[in-house]
Formats: sequence, structure tokens, C-alpha cells
Amino acid sequence: QTPKKIQESAKRSALVYKNKNIPINQRIEDLLRRMTIEEKILQMTQWTYGKNANANNIEASKKAVRPEIGSLIYRSVNPVYRNEIMRKAMEQSRLGIPILMGFDVIHGFRTIYPIPLAQACSWNPNLVAKAAAVAAKESKLSGVDWTFSPMIDVARDPRWGRVAEGYGEDPYTNAVFGVASVKGYQGKNLSDTFSIAACLKHYIGYSLSEGGRDYHYADVSAQTLWDTFMPPYEAGVKAGAATLMSAFNDISGVPASANHFTLTDILKQRWKHDGFVVSDWGSIENLIPQGFAKDRKDAALKSFTAGVEMDMVDNIYADNLPLLLKEHRISMKQVDDAVRRILRLKFKLGLFDKPYVEELPEKDRYYQPESMAIARKLAEESMVLLKNDGQTLPIAHNIKQIALIGPMVKDSINIMGSWEGQGMPSSVETIFDGFKKEFQGKTTLNFAKGCDFDGDDESGFNEASIAAKKSDIIVLCLGEMEKWSGENATRSTLALPVIQQHLFSILKQSGKPIILIISNGRPIELGSLNRLSGAILEIWQPGIAGGSAVAGIISGRLNPSGKLAITFPLTTGQIPTYYNMRQSARPKLGGYQDISSEPNYWFGHGLSYTTFSYSKITLSDSIISKNKNLIARVEITNTGLRDGKETAMWFISDPVASVTRPVKELKFFEKKNLKAGEKQTFQFEIDPIRDLSFPDANGVRHLESGEFYIMLNEQKVKFELVD
Ligand code: BGC
Repeated sequence: QTPKKIQESAKRSALVYKNKNIPINQRIEDLLRRMTIEEKILQMTQWTYGKNANANNIEASKKAVRPEIGSLIYRSVNPVYRNEIMRKAMEQSRLGIPILMGFDVIHGFRTIYPIPLAQACSWNPNLVAKAAAVAAKESKLSGVDWTFSPMIDVARDPRWGRVAEGYGEDPYTNAVFGVASVKGYQGKNLSDTFSIAACLKHYIGYSLSEGGRDYHYADVSAQTLWDTFMPPYEAGVKAGAATLMSAFNDISGVPASANHFTLTDILKQRWKHDGFVVSDWGSIENLIPQGFAKDRKDAALKSFTAGVEMDMVDNIYADNLPLLLKEHRISMKQVDDAVRRILRLKFKLGLFDKPYVEELPEKDRYYQPESMAIARKLAEESMVLLKNDGQTLPIAHNIKQIALIGPMVKDSINIMGSWEGQGMPSSVETIFDGFKKEFQGKTTLNFAKGCDFDGDDESGFNEASIAAKKSDIIVLCLGEMEKWSGENATRSTLALPVIQQHLFSILKQSGKPIILIISNGRPIELGSLNRLSGAILEIWQPGIAGGSAVAGIISGRLNPSGKLAITFPLTTGQIPTYYNMRQSARPKLGGYQDISSEPNYWFGHGLSYTTFSYSKITLSDSIISKNKNLIARVEITNTGLRDGKETAMWFISDPVASVTRPVKELKFFEKKNLKAGEKQTFQFEIDPIRDLSFPDANGVRHLESGEFYIMLNEQKVKFELVD
């Protein structure tokens, strides 16, 4: 370093905002005072080198990044790259403000875990928190500071491809897993070495896009907004989520990315969120085709004044806010408030004090034993045994030959699911790999692909039939390609493609029992496959350690414990089929003429290789008052011959209220391991204010006295709340 440089850096560190011993608020104010309008507005700007530079040319993109931008969507896995860009920000910008590196770390960074919908089916939030913590560590070691996750959009239309990215159909489940992942990503403190900032998305109502068609209009009534969509966000904000992302949809006529009510009145004023909101990709400019803004300037004005602080990739704030300021359409106070929120996160993350990451070799960044162990455990716990006729699974020890058939068997891409981050197909343990390891030396595996995921090429059927004929049992692995779910991946039917159904019927002709394994990002309409399979295992898109989990469950080494976080309809036309529907005027009527009204598998369904018996529920009181908690207990016994995990799901129903209520609502769940023969007490402490109150259309909660029911399994026990 030259003496001049040393002098300069000494001068810089004497500045209040550079001094890490001074409280964050003072540092922010000091920095804000020094910033020009342009510098402030660039902080509100997020770039990506896909759009603003050349995605295929990292060198060019590095050059193109302006050192003053607030955030970059970061697509590299190389910490050296991060440090180079960061050095540019720290040394070539006038004030040396670090750039926030954001990336979609959705279900793992390199070590890919099951998709979020599958994670919810584990009913194990601690494990999900651990997975998020490891994903944060892998991300940070590669240069990421901020993930656009978790997605907590309660999803009730499985045609919508993004059901894969969230935690299913229930608000409470989304809240619990959303909070778990926020805590996992952010750690105890955002400034911890391996913490990254979380982002709750997509605020709000996105999953209600009509017909499941992505980006479409969503008619979200005020009551549904409060009952269904707000609770996970409120919980996530309370848990300290640093940021939120606005959404593409509009909410009953006002776009979510320009919605003052949700973004400011609720989020900033009622909930006092002190972090910031980033738009979704281009969602500010999208106000123009949406018919809510006449041009880019109008769109910038509407989003900014509604409460979106950062513009994702549009450059629409940088292009328009200076003029809007000059014209007094927006105020400097508003700009400062937005910039303050963005700077606050950078200070909290410790980026000013420690802008660079360690440049470790790849082998020290990914696939560490802790990370692999979580990937395995989460894959095991999230798989759901939908059907088992009792003789089929686990497979008998005397089975000599297994026909392992289907397009999913050797697949290493689709099994990762959408938003696979930086996952590598070469790291994936396929179903075939898992079976080879599991059955080595004991059983012959007769593999045949049979067909592709889609299309009409039946040339593989013959080979598949031969494999089936030679074998004692058929394990048929069907499902969806990863690109059929995730963003902009709506399907008009939940059925498997005709070619896969056809393969099933050809194999059925062999007369051998079929174990159906399905890998998919949404509920599947199983049709006759449901009846004709001896057993069905839903494995979702289980990530890199899926293969051994599947094989372990089939062989009986592992006992399945997943339960559905989303209902499987009988047919696509039955949608929506969520369990917590509102009470109907004529509950016994209003069904279908042509099919049953019951879905194929309800939310909460999932079998085990052992059996559990539930004692009668006991309540600490049958009449309670508003400020007294009620304790509900049940004893669950593992009555089978092997160890297993059981999840007790406690629901409450409020049959009469001033607003019609759902037939029942999940309020608490707990998963425990029970050894063969073991009995354990499961307990739910009902806090009337938290668990018996409900919101009205303004989001004001009411606690009304009267009768309630607590429900668990088949049981329903009445209690009364008095004034
Ligand atoms: C998606 C977001 C995602 C963002 C950045 C958008 O198109 O809707 O979920 O975080 O892109 O990749």
C-alpha cells in the first residue's frame, strides 16, 4: 500500500459510518447525510448480469456492474468473484457502500434438499431450520448475503406450478415452516459469519392467481386475505425476516407491487417491519401491462409510494425517481426512509465491516458431512406412504428379482425439482444408485426405462414387460419433470401424462404386484393407478440424497413418517380441495354427480410400517375463560413391531361465530419418535387469545365465547369458552 492509500483508509475509518463501534442507527444517519441523490437511488436498485450485462460473460458483467448499486442478483459460485465485485464497490465508489448479493437459495445451494412442499410433509421444523442454516453456510461461503426464500404463499390450486416452492395448503403450516427457515438462514444474529438475510415472498395473494395460471389476476377477498394469506407473513415478520418480496398478481384490483395497504399500512405501520421490500422480477414495470400505470415513470411512482424500496432488475427507480423528486411527486424524506431500510440490513449483516468472504476451495464449501446428513434425513422424513395393501411394503426378504422401471429411475435432474440453485446432476444419488446400494448381493435389479416423461414413444414398453415378467415385483418410478412445476409452470391437469399411464397398464398385465413411486412438484391425480398399485410412495422431488431414502423405505430399512401438507384431489376438476374450507350452508349437498366429493388423500394423510393407537383426549377443563389456557393431552402408543415416528395434528373448530369459519383449522402439531411398544404423551396448550380468536375483514382479531371443538385423528371433543 502506498502512503497515500494508507492515509485515505485511515481517514475513511475515522468516519462515523465506517466505525463498527458506533451504534447502527448513528452510522446510517451519518452515511445518509453524505449521500447524493443519485447514490441514494442506486441503493434502491438491484441489478442482475443476466439483464443489465452479459450473463455468459462474467468478465464483462463484472465490468458492467456499477460500484454504487444496492444489490446484485449473484449467480456465481465463486467467492473470488464476489470479492472482486465487492472490492469494486468498496474501493471504486465514493463512499464505499457494500453491494448486497442476492440469490434464489430455495431448497439448498449446492447440497440440494427436497422441495419446500416436501419439507413441510416432514412435519419436522427443526430439521428444516437446520437445512436452511446449512444452505446459508454454503451460500455465504460462495458469496451470497441474501436469499429470496422462504415462499410462504398458502397454495390451494395445485395446477399452479409454484405449489412446489411453498409449504402447502394450510396457513399455520406455512407460518411454522416459514419461521423455521427464516431462523435457519438468519441464525441468531444476521452478523454471524454464516448468516444470510431471508426474504418472505410473494407478498401477497400470489397463489390465488385464477385457474392456477401464473401471474394472473387474484381475487383475494379481505376476509381470505386475513384468514389465509396474512398469518404466515405476520409470523415471518415477527420472527425477524429481514426482507419481503412483493408479487406479480393484483389483489382484488390493486397490484401487490403497488399496494399501499399491504406494503405500508400493514407491513410497516401495523407490524412495524424495519427491513425492506424488493419488487419481484420486473414487477414494477409490469404495472404497465397490468393496466395500473401508464408508463415507466408512473409505475415507479406507484410502487415507490406504495412501499417497495428496491427495484428488482428494471432500473426503473434509477431512471425515474430523480425526476419525480425534482417534480415534488415524491419527497426526500420518503427516499431517505427507503435507503435507511436498505442500509440497515447491510449494517446488520456486518457488510461494512467485513465485506469479503474467505476464498476456500470448493471441497471445503459444499457437501460437508453435516449437510449431506440433513439432505438424507429430510428426504427420508418428507416421503409419504400414500397406500400400502399390507403385503406389498416393505418388500419381503425372499424377493429375488425386482423390476425397476420408469423414466425417473436413473434421472438426476428432475429429481432435484425446480429452483435447484447451484445443484449439480453429478452429485445426485439416483433411485437406481440407491437401489444398487440397498439390494447389493441380495436381489437382482432388472432395469428398464419404459418411456420418457412425456411424448408417444412406446418403443421401450417391450423391454419393460420383459423385465417385469422376470421379476417377483415391479417398482415403477413415474412422475413429473422439474420444469412442470416452479415458476410459470402451470398444468391444466394433475394426471400423469398418457404415456406413463399406458406404461403402467402394460406392466399391470404381467400380474406382478406394482409398487408405484411418484416424484413430482404438486399433488397428482392418480386415477386408476391408485386402485391398481399395491403400494404408492410419494417421494416428491427429494434432492440429491433421494435415492437412498426411496430404496431404504422400499426395503424396510427406513420407516416412512411423512404426511401430506397438501390434499390430493380425486380429479383435477375437484380443485380446490383444501381441508380447511369454510362451513357450507348444506354440508351434505353440493357434491358432484359424477364423482365422490371426497378427495383421494386428505391433508395429513400418511402411512407408517408400524401402527399407533391414540388414547381418548383429556382436557384440563371443559369450560375456560379468555385468560386461562387449556391443556389437551393424548397418549399415543406404538402398537406395532417396529420403531416409528408419529405426528399429532391438533385442529380446532369454531362452529358458530360472527364470521363463518373453516370446518377446522390446524393449530399445533408435534412429531415424536416412538419405539416399538412405547407410549408417549402428546400435549397441546391452547391459548384462547392465540388459538380461538379469528380476524375480521379488517384484520382485527375477535375472541368470541361459545362452544369449540378440539380435533385429533378421528376424535372431536367439545369445550366452552365463557366471558
Ligand atoms: C420469481 C421470484 C424470484 C425472482 C428472482 C422471480 O421471477 O417470481 O420468486 O425470487 O424471480 O430470481
